[in-house]
Amino acid sequence: MRTENITSSFTKHYITAVSLLAFLSIVAFIALNIGIKESASSELIVNISGKQRMLSQRIASLAQQYYLITYGSEKFTSSSHDELKSNLQTLINQMRFNNKALSTGYLNQTTQVELSESIHKIYFGSNNLQKRVNIYLQLSENLLHTKSKAQALEILPNLISLSNTLLPDLTSTVLQYQKESENNITLIHNIAFTALMLILSTLIIESMFIFKPMATKIQNLFQEILSNQRNLEQQVEIRTLTLEQANQKLAHLASHDPLTGLKNRLNLESDLETLLKHYYKNNVPYAVAMLDIDWFKTINDNYGHAVGDFVLCEIAKILIENIREGDNVYRAGGEEFVVLFNRITEKEAINRVNKIRLILQEHLFVFNALELRITISSGLYHPDIIQADSVQEILKLADVALYEAKHLGRNQIVTVQKNQK
Ligand code: GH3
Ligand code: MG
Ligand code: MG
Repeated sequence: MRTENITSSFTKHYITAVSLLAFLSIVAFIALNIGIKESASSELIVNISGKQRMLSQRIASLAQQYYLITYGSEKFTSSSHDELKSNLQTLINQMRFNNKALSTGYLNQTTQVELSESIHKIYFGSNNLQKRVNIYLQLSENLLHTKSKAQALEILPNLISLSNTLLPDLTSTVLQYQKESENNITLIHNIAFTALMLILSTLIIESMFIFKPMATKIQNLFQEILSNQRNLEQQVEIRTLTLEQANQKLAHLASHDPLTGLKNRLNLESDLETLLKHYYKNNVPYAVAMLDIDWFKTINDNYGHAVGDFVLCEIAKILIENIREGDNVYRAGGEEFVVLFNRITEKEAINRVNKIRLILQEHLFVFNALELRITISSGLYHPDIIQADSVQEILKLADVALYEAKHLGRNQIVTVQKNQK
């Protein structure tokens, strides 16, 4: 849900940012297009008006030539006269066409411009350039249609003087058009610069207020995900550890006696199995001593179960203290203990068990104000006496020997008998 919100917020921000830039780019593109069109029209209008100046001078010059050729003393051919007349007429037509175009703004079929106020004033104001050009052209045309020198002399001076007054006005028109064209170019430049500045500042603003917060949000999200992952990993680690500890505890509980902390019968059987295999494989001798406290029931009966437990724990400690490295003590059940002797002769085993028996016999058990002594009986198995095939058989043989020790009066060790099997 949270990720969905963030994704939709990112998308919104992104779309806003991109739309803004797209809008600005379109505006800039349109503005530039208009500018370029304007600049093309300005160029055209400057050209035409420049041409008007040239045409007016040409017409004046050709009109004088026409007069001289037609009515002067110079000799001429009829073909050059006609050519001159046609040329002059062409120039008149051209200048008339241009005069219309410049005074209306219809430059050609595709280009139409709006005339500025200053231009309009030049053509239609007090100067009335449009009308004066037309009069000039009309006079020129009239000259072409004169029949006599006298008629021509009536027109020509007016024409010349009008040409002289037109020239500065036509020049100032060109200058005005040029000035306006330059203004247009400056305007285009300003528009392009403003658009560029707008796009750049929008980019900066977007990167500050949209992209940077977006990047920070993404970074935070990643960090959150990473820390969640780390938490999860830690939790898994803790769970695994707890599980391992629980397993270890369970394994310990299953294989150890909770009262004395000694290994229990489960361990006894598997360890004895190992000794047995070792014996068969490498002929390593071993011994199994089964120990049982004499008259233990009376301790419970006389002093209570807690005293019985205390005695059991104390015996466990003494047994541990009096075995060799590599030997092991087990609580086989109730008040029965087993000692497994590794790599030992029968004789040494008897000696060791006897030593334990004597130590226990000498030991004074002190529980609060209570002092008591105990003895133990033991059944001892050694493979030199009789070779058993299984753990159960060994334990059974040792148990029978123990029973015999009890039967013989307790506080003694009885070894398994050769014929016992
Ligand atoms: P014997 O010399 O023939 O071995 O006599 P005994 O009294 O030791 O033998 P018996 O098998 O009659 O009694 C064993 C007693 O050990 C019976 C039981 O109450 C006691 N016992 C077994 N396990 C525990 C224990 O964990 N704590 C205590 N306090 N007593 C236990
Ligand atoms: Mg017993
Ligand atoms: Mg007993």
